[in-house]
Amino acid sequence: MTDLRRLKLTRIEGTATLSCEISPCCFMYPNYGLQIGVSLNGSREAIKHGKVSMTSATGADVQALFDSVKLIECGECKGPAFDPATISTNARGLCPACMEKVSSAEFEEEMKLIEERERVATSRRHAHARARGFTHEVIAWLHPESGDDEAVIFHTKTDAKDEIEKILRKYGSVVTSDFTVTKL
Ligand SMILES: [Zn+2]
Repeated sequence: MTDLRRLKLTRIEGTATLSCEISPCCFMYPNYGLQIGVSLNGSREAIKHGKVSMTSATGADVQALFDSVKLIECGECKGPAFDPATISTNARGLCPACMEKVSSAEFEEEMKLIEERERVATSRRHAHARARGFTHEVIAWLHPESGDDEAVIFHTKTDAKDEIEKILRKYGSVVTSDFTVTKL
């Protein structure tokens, strides 16, 4: 009798080493059914769900499920990649290395957009405050006696510490030193 918890299957196809294990959740939730996680050359796990119940699952079921996972050529580098038609994966037909590159490029692009949006918002806010005669912007954390801390932005015509502390007290903050001042 195979100990399914310890079962680990491996298959080599060209330069690809595939390995598979049963997902831990299958043992935790009896009605989950058989599910395997498959990794390609040690990275990026994809998941395949079978229609087999865990109470009747055998090593042969795991093998059959694993065998049904196919590889294709990576859309970028022609290296081995999961065939998305045979396994649920978010790799879009790319190999783990190319997928990594695409994800980090997308992440950087997104961060750039966020930074740009913030920069535009800040300069618009500064211009607006300057137009109303303010000279400084204060970004502060309010620490109320009870409840959560809260961030505020306001504009002043002074950078005098005691004036800013007065405003923070008016806001109901018990701490009046948690702020930064920027000249507009
Ligand atoms: Zn690739």
